[in-house]
Amino acid sequence: MFIITQHQYDLIMRQAQENYPYETGGILCGSSDGVIKGVMPLYNQAGGDQRREFGMSAEDMLRGHEFAKKHGLIFFGVYHTHPNGIAYPSDKDISNNQRFLFVISLRDRYNPEFAAYSVLPGRSVIREDIQVINDNGITVLDINTGKSKFSENVSTSEMKKLHSLIDAIIEERAKYPKLSPKNKFEAKRSSFNTEA
Ligand SMILES: [Zn+2]
Repeated sequence: MFIITQHQYDLIMRQAQENYPYETGGILCGSSDGVIKGVMPLYNQAGGDQRREFGMSAEDMLRGHEFAKKHGLIFFGVYHTHPNGIAYPSDKDISNNQRFLFVISLRDRYNPEFAAYSVLPGRSVIREDIQVINDNGITVLDINTGKSKFSENVSTSEMKKLHSLIDAIIEERAKYPKLSPKNKFEAKRSSFNTEA
């Protein structure tokens, strides 16, 4: 089970929306009780079609580990978006030797799905619960294992709030890295690469 604050959740969703229809992602760190305490958004450095691939450099991976260490946190893993795909890791996602995978599906763009998975030996995955809490520790969204959509878990008024939030996000100027120009050199050295 993972817990993420509304603030960090919003940061990730804003990044996901602003880079749409391209994949984007970053690194998540946190404490041993599963609380996500650090979000590091990254440029997509995939060398191919960035609507279907997310890639990050070995330097990015190293920076993520150093970021976690510096703040006394555990490196949880990489998150990335599937602009048109489901919130389930592809075979290529799973092959990146990560302990956890975080996938954000924007297939239903205004009803995004944020899913976490534990990667087991043999490359099978188990879906983990994610709870979104506000800054006072109150649960805002409770995303249960197996539930595919936010709309199944939240009230209509909460959904409306989420929609207006996403609209505001799209209008707002970026405060973090947007889609980078393709960088073939970096892509070649990428230590994490995915397809859809
Ligand atoms: Zn993927």
